[in-house]
Amino acid sequence: MKEKNNLFYKMGIDLGGSHIAIGVVDSNGKILEKIEKRLNGIITKEVKRVIEETIIESFNKFKEEYKIIEIGIAIPGTVTKDVVVKSVNLGLQNYKIIEELQKKINIPIKIRNDAKCAAIAESTYGSLKKYERALFLTLGTGIGGAVIIDNKLLNTGNLPGCEIGHMVIEKNGIECNCGRRGCFERYASMKAFKNNLRKALGYTEEVSGKELLAIMKNTRKKDENYKIIEKVKKEYIEYLGLGIANLVNIFEPEAIGIGGSFVYFGEVLLEDLKEEFDSKNLLFNPRKDINIQTAVLGNEAGIIGAVL
Ligand SMILES: [Zn+2]
Repeated sequence: MKEKNNLFYKMGIDLGGSHIAIGVVDSNGKILEKIEKRLNGIITKEVKRVIEETIIESFNKFKEEYKIIEIGIAIPGTVTKDVVVKSVNLGLQNYKIIEELQKKINIPIKIRNDAKCAAIAESTYGSLKKYERALFLTLGTGIGGAVIIDNKLLNTGNLPGCEIGHMVIEKNGIECNCGRRGCFERYASMKAFKNNLRKALGYTEEVSGKELLAIMKNTRKKDENYKIIEKVKKEYIEYLGLGIANLVNIFEPEAIGIGGSFVYFGEVLLEDLKEEFDSKNLLFNPRKDINIQTAVLGNEAGIIGAVL
């Protein structure tokens, strides 16, 4: 048993839409061992059973070697302190996951939204480490995020809060699956960007994000697609800048971190985003340089942030 010098460990779980990753995390935020299992292909009825069995098996395996004192789970969706209210990706609703696991596991278990896990992980060990006040956005299928104040996640009580993706930026805009119109994520998520780009270039959904990125990187000024790409990019950056500026004007963070699949597109979008702030008066209290960082912890952020 690795318990020398009073060393204790935590078990972090990243519940993705398509896979589950479980790791032993030490007190420095380092993942020492990891188990991964695919969840896609499993029918919705079976998802809960597979999740619970995988977590219990992993805990029993890890506890033979490590003194594990707590378990944290990063959930893609809406969560309160003890219930998964809704996870569209996993097809879960009102799932009392902690209560179920606690029948077999006798140490504290906590759950937290995955974007908040990534935010606290980036704030503690990653791109936002140097800052006490920060904003973190995950730009992917939707937009998630969190606000860090005094190195801690903004306390929103037992309600999720920080529904950054559902901040309305266009009255009577595009319909959102939350029931309202004109939500930020309908314009500034990576899904929105990629879909707009595919549409403008006349591509089907089969053209992957990776392929789109390659096309963006390889298109030169003289190419016929150049203007089309620039137009889609410009519109996307305008919406993204607008939403971020709204948040900056409220919270005045020292830095803004961006995670999710935006990170891969960082090389073709990040400078344009900074330029948007430099060239327009988006901020109520102007600053010299907007400090925008892309996330550095990648897919480890969920596991690490779940136990912070
Ligand atoms: Zn919405």
